[in-house]
Amino acid sequence: MVTAKARAVDGPDKPFRVAEIKRRDLDLHDVLIEIKYAGICHSDIHTAHGEWGPVNYPLVPGHEIAGIVTDVGTEVSKYKVGDRVGVGCMVDSCGECENCRKGEEQYCLKGNIQTYGGVDKYGEPTQGGYSTHIVVQENFVLKIPDNIELDKAAPLLCAGITTYSPLNHWGAASGKKVAVVGMGGLGHMAVQIAHAMGAEVTVLSQTLKKKEDGLQLGADHYYATSEPQTFEKLAGCFDLIINTVSAKINLNAYLGLLNLDGTLVNVGAPAEPLSLNVFNLIGHRRSFAGSMIGGIRETQEMLNFCAQHGIVPKIEVISAEQIDEAYERVLASDVKYRFVIDTNTI
Ligand code: NAP
Ligand code: ZN
Repeated sequence: MVTAKARAVDGPDKPFRVAEIKRRDLDLHDVLIEIKYAGICHSDIHTAHGEWGPVNYPLVPGHEIAGIVTDVGTEVSKYKVGDRVGVGCMVDSCGECENCRKGEEQYCLKGNIQTYGGVDKYGEPTQGGYSTHIVVQENFVLKIPDNIELDKAAPLLCAGITTYSPLNHWGAASGKKVAVVGMGGLGHMAVQIAHAMGAEVTVLSQTLKKKEDGLQLGADHYYATSEPQTFEKLAGCFDLIINTVSAKINLNAYLGLLNLDGTLVNVGAPAEPLSLNVFNLIGHRRSFAGSMIGGIRETQEMLNFCAQHGIVPKIEVISAEQIDEAYERVLASDVKYRFVIDTNTI
């Protein structure tokens, strides 16, 4: 058993504190990872604040994990000590259901085991990446390409795959017009990935404050949603809209921006229900869809794609002492564009 240092939260309104957690002894196919960096995803905040439902506190969030393998179980074949690896939002699944067999483990029919806030197959609560070590079975460990630094690799494990997967699934490519709503952690990855896939990319942000960054990341157009004429000007414009907003937005206004057969995919996961006027779908045979992270095979594909296209997140590395402040700043949309914890400071 490895004792890991961690940062845990004890309740929805509580600050983070130093904690010690146990990581299990290595099973045959387990990998022990010394975590170097952990990204802060808005999902960590929704969860830590109890917005998505009951939480088993104390909670150690973190599902954007990058580190180095320091030990392996006796039957591990994919990794060896010293490898640069990542772990995303899930650490296990049944492996046998239809969806797992398709490589869509995130949609495991028995429920995937989440990196934190879940219960593993040994009956123990899972704890995430705001810690110094983690034990994960090898099939849920990703290889980080050599040309991606570990601090920048971390956010790819959630923000990267969560945007790559729907862009890939709904065919973002040359000749397609893609809009990204919200230029935060997920949004700024979606812009880069959609651009690299060849699509014409438009950012729909609350303001024009981040316009220069958006264009530099590969957006062709950038509009402020606070200006009503944006919705008039762009009516019927897009083949695909990826909504990354963490709060409730007026879905109907955005559906009006889709063309015939266009799709609005929600990856943003606000706790409150969004309301939708079906006439906004019926009129132009539009679709409204959702998407959750991506499977393991697709996550590796995304990492390789990012390595090949030189895509990395823009990050601000922080110490563990700054987690509470970082949460406040994310909530205020004051993040450029992902906070990443240096786990050495835990
Ligand atoms: P984030 O960094 O906070 O980005 C969200 C962005 O949404 C903000 O930067 C802001 O962009 C915009 N926004 C925030 N509040 C808004 C409001 N009231 N009205 C309009 N726009 C607003 O968060 P993130 O880490 O990218 O995560 C985004 C959402 O995706 C969260 O709900 C998270 O839980 C969810 N998520 C889902 C999955 C999945 O598998 N589906 C995976 C990861 C995360 P502008 O400043 O540009 O307007
Ligand atoms: Zn996430």
